[in-house]
Amino acid sequence: MSERQFIDSLDFANNKRELRGQVALVEMPRLQDVLASPDASLQQDSNEGVGYILRGLQDENGKPMLSIKLDGVLELRCQRCLGGLVYPLKLVSQLFLAHRDDWDESYIEDGEAETILADQRLDVFALLEEEILLGLPFAPRHPAGACQVVAGGYLAEEGGRMQENPFAILSELKK
Ligand SMILES: [Zn+2]
Repeated sequence: MSERQFIDSLDFANNKRELRGQVALVEMPRLQDVLASPDASLQQDSNEGVGYILRGLQDENGKPMLSIKLDGVLELRCQRCLGGLVYPLKLVSQLFLAHRDDWDESYIEDGEAETILADQRLDVFALLEEEILLGLPFAPRHPAGACQVVAGGYLAEEGGRMQENPFAILSELKK
């Protein structure tokens, strides 16, 4: 089991620190709800969980930021047939850090990146978990026709519906 990491987020950003490693899936309790097999084979095969690189940086205006890179494989549950669905997780995101006092419009208007409150004891794994959850598809499904057969036939909807799923498009844009 990996040891939980805590950082002083502003110090981390302003000194351009970097942290990299693996976070075991068991360290991310809220993620368990969306995984098909939280403690099963996939995790043991890859023997780790999700690889991460957390970097501190400043944008061109000197605003402190965190950059997060995640790389791993999750097994989600298909929302149509409830079978396991292998989901390659590749995620890059950037977050602004703001003091509670400076929390103002300028941060919100930046639009591109999210903002989180600066924290002297930021729980790194909780942050990674949050980013993973935000990046996952809302209703993951196998491609049309690829669902497992269940008793009584396919649960699948007709294939055309898939393309119209607005969440699928959103998650594409996010990349
Ligand atoms: Zn399915």
